[in-house]
Amino acid sequence: MAWPALQAAVAGCRACALCMSRKNTVFGVGPPAPDAAAPQVDWLIVGEAPGENEDMASEPFVGQAGKLLDNMLLAVRLQRGTDDVARPGVAKNVFITNALKCRPPANRSPDHAEVAQCAPYLKRQVELLQPKIILALGKVAAQSLLQGSVPEIHKIPLGKLRGQVYSYLGVPVVVSYHPAYLLRSLGDKAKAWDDLCLAIDVLKR
Ligand code: URA
Repeated sequence: MAWPALQAAVAGCRACALCMSRKNTVFGVGPPAPDAAAPQVDWLIVGEAPGENEDMASEPFVGQAGKLLDNMLLAVRLQRGTDDVARPGVAKNVFITNALKCRPPANRSPDHAEVAQCAPYLKRQVELLQPKIILALGKVAAQSLLQGSVPEIHKIPLGKLRGQVYSYLGVPVVVSYHPAYLLRSLGDKAKAWDDLCLAIDVLKR
């Protein structure tokens, strides 16, 4: 499935009950790309699922957690594809998406079946984007990407998944805290910075 067909498949997906309560699907956002091609990016950021704001805007990470994510990205000289502010030395070299493309009602956590149902879309995004590094933000993103390669991943606390480099379809994966968690736990921001530094190191290898 090519990029436009994948976008259309996500937009029309009715594979699980989340299609009944969503306003919009949230495919992801990256730099402009030529027709029918996936954007060319080194970085893929994977979050959990759209929340209310994202469901309305059809764009990932547009709420408070998204502002923190944008600031973290700016710190490593990255800005999202929809950001129109010209910043010298800052590149739109990142695609941002979620493990789930639809909002779970009342912002509940996605269940295993929903994550599994949506995983093929994320897989195809990775195949077409061919990023050089994936940053998995939070437990749901880590589980969606690594459940085939990390035994019993659902039993491992996020703090224990950090600090290592995993692989998904041959792409290195670094796991970090979800920005919504960081908003509540400011003390762990330094660890999230360490994770970003690890991802940069991997990218430079
Ligand atoms: N949290 C996520 O994981 N993704 C979003 O898009 C917004 C909030």
